[in-house]
Amino acid sequence: MNDLQYQFDLLKAMNKKIVESEHMYKLIVERASLSFIYYSVEKNKYYSMGNFRNLFGFEVNNTGDLERFFSFFDASKESRLREVFFSESYSANEEAIDILDSVGKRWFRVVCSKIYEGEVLTDKVVKIIDITKDMSRSEELLYMAYYDSLTGIYNRNYFITLLDGFISDAKEKGDRVAIITIDIDDFKKVNDGLGMIIGDEFLQQFGSYIKEFQNDRVIVSHLSNDIFGIGIYNPLGDYAVSGYINRIRNRLKEPFKMSTGQEVSVSVSFSVSEYPEAAASALSLINCGDIAMFRAKSLGNDQLVYFDAKMLDDFMSNVSLENKLSDAVMHHRFEVYFQPQYHADSQKLRGMEALLRWKDEEKGFIPPSVFIPIAEKNGAIIPIGNYVLERSIKQYAEWKEKYDLDFTMSINISAVQYKRDDFVENVIELIKRYNVDPQYIELEITESILIDDFEAVTKKLRELRDFGLKISMDDFGTGYSSLSYLMRMPIDTLKIDKSFVDSVLSDNSTRIILDSILDMSQNMGFESIAEGVESENQYNYLFGKGCDVIQGFYLGKPQPAGEITKMLEDGVELQA
Ligand code: C2E
Ligand code: CA
Ligand code: CA
Repeated sequence: MNDLQYQFDLLKAMNKKIVESEHMYKLIVERASLSFIYYSVEKNKYYSMGNFRNLFGFEVNNTGDLERFFSFFDASKESRLREVFFSESYSANEEAIDILDSVGKRWFRVVCSKIYEGEVLTDKVVKIIDITKDMSRSEELLYMAYYDSLTGIYNRNYFITLLDGFISDAKEKGDRVAIITIDIDDFKKVNDGLGMIIGDEFLQQFGSYIKEFQNDRVIVSHLSNDIFGIGIYNPLGDYAVSGYINRIRNRLKEPFKMSTGQEVSVSVSFSVSEYPEAAASALSLINCGDIAMFRAKSLGNDQLVYFDAKMLDDFMSNVSLENKLSDAVMHHRFEVYFQPQYHADSQKLRGMEALLRWKDEEKGFIPPSVFIPIAEKNGAIIPIGNYVLERSIKQYAEWKEKYDLDFTMSINISAVQYKRDDFVENVIELIKRYNVDPQYIELEITESILIDDFEAVTKKLRELRDFGLKISMDDFGTGYSSLSYLMRMPIDTLKIDKSFVDSVLSDNSTRIILDSILDMSQNMGFESIAEGVESENQYNYLFGKGCDVIQGFYLGKPQPAGEITKMLEDGVELQA
């Protein structure tokens, strides 16, 4: 190959490479939707490049084209755009402007980079990027900062901001501000029964319904999950709180129609808290609303509760009780008392019920009806319940060994304890550890455990009973139990609630129910225990109706273990 041929091939190869890399460069720039205007100072010439033609429909090659380019944008920003373009001042940084097109549809970011040789400007590269998508995303972000994405009404944060505005106006003018908190009753049932999609649609519809109330004095918000809020400036006359509540209640008489054709009917609970009485800031006002709502929910469905200061006291004392409770758990400040149960016919000892006692240093005895619900809510019931189980089983083993008496030890079990996976295992382990005969240990459960999963509940009960334990249904007659449930439940004992015993002598309908409970209990082969028996008359009545066992102050109060030991020491008679 001669020299010339070689040179030629080399040139061709280089050219090809240049063409290739140019092609590659063009592709990349176009695909990336980048458009440029390049200005060469030396040649005083403009070139448009990249995706420019696609974007604007023309090229820029001279100052005339450049004017056409400027007129493409929002006129009010033109002078700023020219500055970015023509500024000759030395700057190492890129100058940029975000600008809308003249029809207000698309956003562009125009960025000018200047290239210097020493301090002499040689070239400018102006990059034009379509940022419409990013801008609409930030508009979306802005929307999300104010509105709830599900219902399209104000979210909690923005509601608080607006409400604080109401409150500071009211402070100045001596006016009032009210918030109505609305909590959908049993919303879980809507979700579980009809599905989340219908649940969401219902919330949307409810949100748009209350949005109709909104004006310069009234704001509405989706505060959380199934909770809505209405803030009212100076709630008087047409703006009175009761007016809104009545309107909502009336609306709820009709079902909401979903797009699927399904109908959703709900009731709601209301709470009301007002500035200046309840609180002086939006956030505290909402908190007061929550506290009043807590009270409303405890009363049932379709309730209305106004916040008052006493409610806060109660709430705070519950909070301090909660702290005390964890302290008591840590320092074992509990004791178990025992209340004897007697056979109705012979008045001989049948067994005893273990009842928990908590003595607080400041408050004295705090009744279990107060602290057990708190312990169930915050989980303290697990260590407390384990303590009661172990304490009672151990005590039973000691009495059994010392006095060789066979009586039943009944232990209250909370639904929370019962639901734990290791519950059955735990109980069996304790019984083995203290080597007691399981037939003398009875677990008292309440109907509330049945709400969840009947199959899972009965499976556990069966395991316990198969091991030999007795199961007792506590507070019978107050809860959910239907007879059909009861028949399928593996239980031995029915404890008739104290409320029946209380009014059996004075109230005819109670008597009818009590009689039929005792009747049924007998037919189904349960042992029946009446609790809270305080008088001889009550005793006689119950005995006459065939009640098996009597428990109550009339025959014996709950007592510390020491007292029971004395009683056993003196000798008690047991049923043969
Ligand atoms: P319960 O299981 O229905 O217990 C019977 C309650 O009636 C006891 O109240 C007992 O002291 C009281 N009582 C018994 N006889 C009479 C009477 O003749 N007249 C009156 N006025 N009351 C009588 P206590 O000990 O305050 O317990 C209240 C509730 O606290 C219990 O109701 C039970 O639900 C719960 N509880 C008590 N100890 C425990 C425990 O160790 N674990 C669990 N989970 N709950 C417990
Ligand atoms: Ca009980
Ligand atoms: Ca009871």
